[in-house]
Amino acid sequence: MLIKAQPELSEKLALMGNAARHEPAGDAPDEQLDKAMHCIAYVATPQGRKPILKALLTSHCERSCHYCPFRAGRPMRRVSFTPDELAAAFDAMHRAGLVQGIFISSGILNGGVAIQDKILATADIIRHKHKYAGYMHIKIMPGAEYDQVRRAMQLGDRVSVNLEAPSAKHLQKLAPQKNFHSELTKRLAWTYEIRAREGLRAGTVTQFVVGAADETDLELLELSARLYRQLGLRRVYFSAFEPIPNTPLEGRSPTPPIRERRLYQAGFLLRDYGWDVEELPFAPDGNLRTDVDPKLAWALENLAEAPVDVMKASRRELLHVPGIGPKGADAIIKARKLGPLRSLEDLRAIGIRNVRRAAPFILFGGRRPDRQLTLFPAG
Ligand code: SF4
Repeated sequence: MLIKAQPELSEKLALMGNAARHEPAGDAPDEQLDKAMHCIAYVATPQGRKPILKALLTSHCERSCHYCPFRAGRPMRRVSFTPDELAAAFDAMHRAGLVQGIFISSGILNGGVAIQDKILATADIIRHKHKYAGYMHIKIMPGAEYDQVRRAMQLGDRVSVNLEAPSAKHLQKLAPQKNFHSELTKRLAWTYEIRAREGLRAGTVTQFVVGAADETDLELLELSARLYRQLGLRRVYFSAFEPIPNTPLEGRSPTPPIRERRLYQAGFLLRDYGWDVEELPFAPDGNLRTDVDPKLAWALENLAEAPVDVMKASRRELLHVPGIGPKGADAIIKARKLGPLRSLEDLRAIGIRNVRRAAPFILFGGRRPDRQLTLFPAG
């Protein structure tokens, strides 16, 4: 039993199961776990990877998004918590050592503003009645008011506004009742303004459903780049579309997981490696290659005949070499001030582990790496 003292809450959590699995907060739950534990997901937080409770206040919803299991009228058993109940369930799980954080989301009942009030009430009870000071991620509902967004950012470490699609035209195909600009992008912009003005630490994330609205990777990544650069988003999540029975998109093919993976790899190049979206190697149809990761695809086109000299290259140039990330680029720049780097072994010695990936695309003081060493097994 998940929460021994409150069996009715445990039963509701078991019924909710992994209902919030489509939300942008961590990895999928471990399928080996007891069903009641499917509401627990692992998430990267500023303090490391932690198990969190991913909970919906209610799985009832008055809207009818085409991809969503909770859409109005879809036959399913639904569950609701009061703010006190959900806060108590979390408190019990936290005290039992099962979770170290919470993500609070919900279906929509009586409009986005009313359900946002309940989400905020839950967060407030957890923070002030149960005296919980740890990780909390709060969903901003479509149409939430400015002061509600502000309050969510005061209470939470992270807030999310899910855009779902890269434009109003694409969103029409997924969720015709949602307004891309007035309900969603406007709230994302508010989080940026509020953070800048009030110095709040809460980061903002968003999520796209991939592959159900005929959007291209280029469209998804162009918007991701703008969100990272202009609104300071902490992370853009990509969720490969999976058809749900008894929804308008049930007959559509699922999106291959490799597309989601390539989008994440390209998104990290935009966010962490300083790449511009124009540098990403898109095919003529506007999508990334799936057979090879985007950094390697770019290097094969651009560096195979023009390798980068690790003794002279800028940080930006080093960050275009497969196998060299931000830490590796910094280590190379620091080490070469102290003396020449001559070999793949020298790179390995300063902490670059995947030297075999880098080998075809680099020079050491004008020389290609020793061919034998390029075949040396990675450490
Ligand atoms: S508003 Fe949210 S919960 Fe409701 S149908 Fe749309 S995606 Fe699902």
